[in-house]
Parts: sequence; C-alpha cells; structure tokens
Amino acid sequence: MTELNQQTTYDDNNIFAKMLNGDIPYHKVYEDDKSLAFMDIMPQAEGHVLVIPKQKAVDLADLEPEYAAAVLMTSKKVMQAQRQVFEREGIIQMQLNGAQAGQTVFHYHIHLIPSSIHELGRHAAVMADQEQLANLAKQLAAVIDAE
Ligand code: AMP
Repeated sequence: MTELNQQTTYDDNNIFAKMLNGDIPYHKVYEDDKSLAFMDIMPQAEGHVLVIPKQKAVDLADLEPEYAAAVLMTSKKVMQAQRQVFEREGIIQMQLNGAQAGQTVFHYHIHLIPSSIHELGRHAAVMADQEQLANLAKQLAAVIDAE
C-alpha cells in the first residue's frame, strides 16, 4: 500500500520532467504544445520512440482528456513515420501503469516500437549508441515535417 501511494504522487524530478524543463538532453522526434516524442535511450528495437504529455501525469489514471488526445495524435504521426523509415507495417504501442506492471519512469508515456510481440527485446536493458539515436530521430522528424 505504501508503494502504491508513492507511485501516485508525481515526482517533479523524474527524468521526463527534467527533459520537459530542458535540464537534460534527448533526441527529439516531434513536439507540439501538449506532447513530446523522443528516442528511447535503451530501445527494445531499433527506432523505439516514447511519447509523453506536457502534463504532470504519473500514469493513465491522471491523464487529462486534451493531453490524452495530444499523445495519441502524436503517437499516430510517429507510428506513420516509423512505418516509412523502417519499411515495416508492425509497430507495437505499449504503455505500463505502475511498478507492478514494470513502469520505471513515473511520468505517463507511450512506447512505439518497430517490432513484433514475438521478437520484442528486453525492456530498458541496453543503452543505444547516441549518434545512431540522433540519426534515427532526424529521419523520423523529417518524415513528420514533410506531412
Ligand atoms: P517504463 O518502464 O514503461 O516506465 O519505460 C521507461 C522507458 O524510459 C524505458 O524504455 C527506458 O529505456 C526509457 N528511458 C529512461 N531514461 C531515459 C532517457 N534519459 N532518455 C530516453 N529514454 C529513457
């Protein structure tokens, strides 16, 4: 019960809050006034992107309607760009609620992973090459910008 209470309180110092504040670097794919998409630093497949709301939401329980709409519409843009860049139809959309489900960063986020449920790599296990992430972010951003 104690653990559950800790999770439901938003921590202003979580890593994604720091990104939104401009305190730590990340590889941006897309941004609008209510959402941000960036490369996952420990991808479960090449091209793994995270989409977050610009709202202090721990998980789905906290998400307000306009931010829910924003993260989904941004996810749609990112997924369409992933389909083009990686020349594959299959993109996993995943979102974990609570430590018990495996959530490790307590700011709501959607995972978009160019992979298959049968081939998905381990969760948050291996750090990606930064140059490669920057290059992928650039390719995805270019496709979104062109639409
Ligand atoms: P979850 O376990 O669903 O909370 O997912 C958190 C995700 O955040 C994992 O896939 C991590 O690889 C990713 N992650 C953690 N720190 C960073 C970071 N600094 N930049 C980008 N992604 C991160």
